[in-house]
Amino acid sequence: MHHALAIALAALLPPPQEPGPARAAHAIVEHGRSAYRIVIPAPATPPMEFAAAELRALLAEMSGVELPIATEDLAPDGPAILLGPSARARASGAMDRARELGEDGVLVRSVGEDLLLLGGGERGSVYVVYEFLERFLGCRFLASDCVVVPKRERIALPPLDHANAPPFVYREVLSFLSGDGVLVARQRLNGGNTNQCLGRPHGTGEKVGGFVIGPFCPSAETMVPAGIWLPEHPEWFGLVGGKRHGASIGGQLCYANPELLAHCTKWVLDWCAAHPEIPCIDVSQNDAYPGSSGACECEACMAIVREEGSQHGPILRFANAIATAVAERFPGKTIETIAYQHTLATPKVTKPRDDVIVRLCQHACYFHGIDCPSLGAEFREALAQWRRSAKNVFVWHYGVNFWSYLAPNPNLGALAADLKRYARDGINGVMVQCDLQSPGGELAELRQYLCAQLLWDPSRDPLAIRQDFCAGYYGPAADDVLEFLAAMDRWAVAMPQHIPMNGWDPAAVTPPDFVTAGLDTLGRALEKASDPGHRNRVEKLMLPLWYLRLQWPDRYGLSKSDGAALLARFRRVVEANAITTISEGPPNAAGFLAQMQAQFGG
Ligand SMILES: [Zn+2]
Ligand SMILES: [Zn+2]
Repeated sequence: MHHALAIALAALLPPPQEPGPARAAHAIVEHGRSAYRIVIPAPATPPMEFAAAELRALLAEMSGVELPIATEDLAPDGPAILLGPSARARASGAMDRARELGEDGVLVRSVGEDLLLLGGGERGSVYVVYEFLERFLGCRFLASDCVVVPKRERIALPPLDHANAPPFVYREVLSFLSGDGVLVARQRLNGGNTNQCLGRPHGTGEKVGGFVIGPFCPSAETMVPAGIWLPEHPEWFGLVGGKRHGASIGGQLCYANPELLAHCTKWVLDWCAAHPEIPCIDVSQNDAYPGSSGACECEACMAIVREEGSQHGPILRFANAIATAVAERFPGKTIETIAYQHTLATPKVTKPRDDVIVRLCQHACYFHGIDCPSLGAEFREALAQWRRSAKNVFVWHYGVNFWSYLAPNPNLGALAADLKRYARDGINGVMVQCDLQSPGGELAELRQYLCAQLLWDPSRDPLAIRQDFCAGYYGPAADDVLEFLAAMDRWAVAMPQHIPMNGWDPAAVTPPDFVTAGLDTLGRALEKASDPGHRNRVEKLMLPLWYLRLQWPDRYGLSKSDGAALLARFRRVVEANAITTISEGPPNAAGFLAQMQAQFGG
């Protein structure tokens, strides 16, 4: 626009309103340009550089305008989005408020024409970018391949003053999707243990530090491998039926043995020295089979069990003793121990030290959650008891059917209710274990997004989260997908079976009517999904239903003549999404396809 014309037009416009001290809206982007710059503290750290680059890129995608980034020492005067603990933020007093919110807390605050995006710690200083973009500008971080960024020619903000301090200090979805460090940061999941579990070193791809637990549990076998120590020190291992017994699953240690304690204390101290970056060390029992845990029956262990009224007694005393030694040499570290299967009950006498985190492994119903009337009383009691006994209680929650990652799993309602319950109960950390080995697990992206949103802010409405997700992820097919998910909810509520961790036979619980109706609904969704990306996402929803028909053709009414065509479709979706694993364990999708080919041909 010509300068003279602009002046003439301005003369016709009403005079600008008197900007009240807290009322003016500041335009960050207007008329294709911005007077703002993104300012980060000097010297810039990698997480702050990452956060600034994310903010610039997402605002540019939104508006077409790229804001410059400068460190505070070099930034010229002028309006700024100040990210992190800058001198201007400290001078305003806002940094003090942000620090009160804890490491991951976030504060969005306008000061004059500046916008402060602050965190209680370095992680919060990254998360605040996403909180701001999500809450005030409508962005949605749904999946690695799906970020919703509304287009805006003008980005103007009223004065803002918004804080969030997530009640869970540890938030993790242990999943293949969490291997994407950018997605994890955007979803404000702070676990950082997925890479470790996938055999990658810590620090691979993470953009912001996390609540890393190492060695990842269960650690008894890592600290005291039976293959090495059982021949030399059989007395370190559980006495079962009169014999010392070592095994990584169903074998436990003799936690009352003082030499074993000395060995493990030294092991943990050496490990802390070698891994100064890891804040939390796991000291936990081995995995166990229900009914044959391998717990030690020696007189010393049994005396503790009797006194404490719990099989966790010997382990808790052991973990407390190691924590005492660690606190002397490595103050600030925490020790994690799990309460799982035979050790779920809370010891009556010994309490966990404040630097010992007790992580309860969920023992309730997949479909009706912790409040299931048939299956959950023991876990509800354990939650309440441990909460009274311990300062820090985390939960290891199970999100999927580990026997079958592809089969329909109607647990979205129970999962959301359980996460909300954990917040109400004062649980301060949650991990939801999902499909770790492969992409393409049934509802993997939605389940992860739902968990991430509720772990960040448990007050949110799970159905609103679902609607947001479906609108962004399925586009024109969203309404039909929502109808399909609602049918899953109804099926779960009416489900007569009660299933504890860790899996179930899909054919035993999934009614053929659900499969038929689901394929009808998703067929309509597929007709509306015109572009290849949306079509693939709808077909990923159909995959679990196809899987049932292929695996159990008689129950789900698949004729031999229709089988070959369905298998071809199934194979195409499996390959397009690089699905390698259809149940927990090593890659087995190719084996399943070969088996189906032998059955149906094609
Ligand atoms: Zn013993
Ligand atoms: Zn149930």
